[in-house]
Amino acid sequence: MVSRVIPVDPFDLVIFGGTGDLARRKILPGLFRRYCSGQMPENARIIGAARSDMEAHDYAALAAEAIQEFGGGKACEDGTLEKFLTCLDYVTIDARGDRGWSELQARVAGKDRIEAFYFSVAPSLFGDLAERLQSHGMADSKARIVVEKPFGRDLASAQALNATLAKYFDEKQIYRIDHYLGKETVQNLMAVRFGNMLFEPLWNSQFVDHIQITVAETVGVGGRGEYYDKSGAMRDMVQNHLMQLLCLIAMEPPARFSPDAVRDEKLKVIRALDPVEPHHIVRGQYDADPDDPDAMPDYRTAVDNPRSKTESFLALKTHIANWRWAGTPFYLRTGKRLCARSSEISIVFKDTPHSIFGEEAGRHRNVLSIRLQPNEGITLGVTIKEPGPGGMRLIDVPLDMSFADALGPDGAEHVDAYERLIMDVIRGNQTLFMRGDEVEAAWAWTDPIIEGWTKRGDVPKPYDSHGAGPDTSTQLMRRDDREWREITP
Ligand code: NAP
Repeated sequence: MVSRVIPVDPFDLVIFGGTGDLARRKILPGLFRRYCSGQMPENARIIGAARSDMEAHDYAALAAEAIQEFGGGKACEDGTLEKFLTCLDYVTIDARGDRGWSELQARVAGKDRIEAFYFSVAPSLFGDLAERLQSHGMADSKARIVVEKPFGRDLASAQALNATLAKYFDEKQIYRIDHYLGKETVQNLMAVRFGNMLFEPLWNSQFVDHIQITVAETVGVGGRGEYYDKSGAMRDMVQNHLMQLLCLIAMEPPARFSPDAVRDEKLKVIRALDPVEPHHIVRGQYDADPDDPDAMPDYRTAVDNPRSKTESFLALKTHIANWRWAGTPFYLRTGKRLCARSSEISIVFKDTPHSIFGEEAGRHRNVLSIRLQPNEGITLGVTIKEPGPGGMRLIDVPLDMSFADALGPDGAEHVDAYERLIMDVIRGNQTLFMRGDEVEAAWAWTDPIIEGWTKRGDVPKPYDSHGAGPDTSTQLMRRDDREWREITP
């Protein structure tokens, strides 16, 4: 099956922070892949903007290197890369000063095409960029701004940032990125729920025992120690990525697949989340890898803060106080330096009301697993008879839909979340971006949890590298007579 590519209209995309890590690893390679697919028009322009002094040809060289390193693929061989590089330009700019703004204005203002400004810089510069875009006549109605995470570090800072951006831009012009929403399987979650008759009637507390969301990483904090230690798993992962996944699982069917219809429903979920009891949260910090403690030191050494109380692992249980989900727990778990890299959502259905096969048949539950990475796909665990003679013994087998197997190599073409989301910005489609009120509601739920840790002087539990997190995480489940799903690569 070959995927259909609909070209977008001509655009100018200014990447503030165009020389940075995100631009080099994700944005530029992603744009190049869209160019190769024919989705990006040949007359589109990508303007890198950062403090480093360089000319357009230097920037093209930086982009070429980034694309080769982070995902240009075979298209580099046939001259496509050279053509793509002619779309690139560069302006030396200071977000906090006057340098470069008139030059940028001369290049983009007043042109009859879509103008998108990607804020791929530290969040402390978001307000400066918005203000200068306005004062240099670039915050007109054609403009769209793309804002990276983190969007605030608590409710007050998120409100302040929303208020600053709102001074210069309408909400319809603001695209807050959560790249999890750009993942193919995350969108498939909505297709599975709302495109099939099969699941939705069972999608409630009457039939669902519980839901698990796990985002596990094998890497430690790496070079991001300074940032991460001020943030931790709650701010870095739960408040945004896991929260968004929870919303898509739990929301009511929107009337249509349109930005505000979807985001209204997500917002209702966040607002219905119960506060989390302290004993329903487990925090952890990873230990050194005993086989290679120098290369893989413990968390506190990695962040160079021997007294750090920041969590690199978090597991929690929460409830959604509404009719659909009353009584159904949602278990969220995320952590670094775990045994495998894996992001998975599992909907664990209840036992059948009565087993005609007797107690010896054991407990068998249907589990619908949506795997976001790696090996994107959906698996439905069903109970069948174990083949062979010797009575009725039951086993669970997966009905497996790996996207690569089901759709073929072209259909499952890898479209990275960032490239999809950038094309959505150009198309003006905000469905997969967070609205300001959603972000604030997520912080309103998160803040009291973090404040509680600070008040109680809560210290995260150490956990082994390459395991499944602290033992207390297993106990969180076992107390409820449940088990985490195994974290598998
Ligand atoms: P980075 O590698 O530190 O890059 C920062 C960029 O900002 C550089 O291009 C830098 O260019 C530019 N810059 C710094 N001060 C500036 C100023 N005063 N005026 C104009 N440009 C300035 O950061 P990053 O990792 O790319 O992250 C960028 C944003 O994306 C951050 O908000 C981060 O939280 C978010 N993010 C990053 C990742 C990731 O994987 N990297 C993932 C999720 C979110 P010069 O040095 O040339 O000035």
